Amino acid sequence: VEFEHCGFPETLNANLARLGYLSPTPVQMEMLPQGLVGKDVLAAADTGSGKTAAFLLPVIMAALRENKKTSAQQPTGLILTPTRELAIQIEGQARELVMGLPNMRTALLVGGMPLPPQLHRLKQSIQVIIATPGRLLEILKQEAVSLCGVQVVVVDEVDTMLKMGFQQQVLDILEKMPSEHQTILVSATIPAGIEQLAGQFLQDPVRITV
Ligand code: AMP
Repeated sequence: VEFEHCGFPETLNANLARLGYLSPTPVQMEMLPQGLVGKDVLAAADTGSGKTAAFLLPVIMAALRENKKTSAQQPTGLILTPTRELAIQIEGQARELVMGLPNMRTALLVGGMPLPPQLHRLKQSIQVIIATPGRLLEILKQEAVSLCGVQVVVVDEVDTMLKMGFQQQVLDILEKMPSEHQTILVSATIPAGIEQLAGQFLQDPVRITV
């Protein structure tokens, strides 16, 4: 797999080149072909592996496809992470990747930061949400955003999510997803608790270990 063979639009290829992503990392080589065709994925991947782009690219491509069909007003991609810091990093990378692509906006919905600016951001059409579970649930409760258009859900660092006690919150969010959607779970390790989550929420998942 090379990025040029992934069917990305010119602008996205240019962004990859600008970021210095010349060829895919091993985890990207495994995840991209599966993720880009809409398969559910359970990936064992740690920080430094290039996992972020491996899930962001399928999310971005799904949003671009949706933009072509409708002028989508509701988020197509949802990325859940355990910490604000990680969410900020992911949103930073997402912004770099979507630079110059039309109608592609991200929203960072995380705790420990003031709520009003996050609610304000949601007043415009957003294609990709990057969130921590508690803040997203708070915002959903206020009906400031709808997840009914979500096509790809990513849960990053699932092991950390469980360690931090976010299991129920993640479940509450996953249960709000539309019935037809793709799910990508990424975790440094895959203990039994994650296998159980995968069994419950993934359909015929592709397992990736690099
Ligand atoms: P991650 O594991 O997603 O945290 O990524 C680790 C680092 O690798 C980040 O600084 C990325 O910007 C960088 N990176 C991701 N994919 C590639 C690639 N294909 N080529 C070079 N660097 C990359």
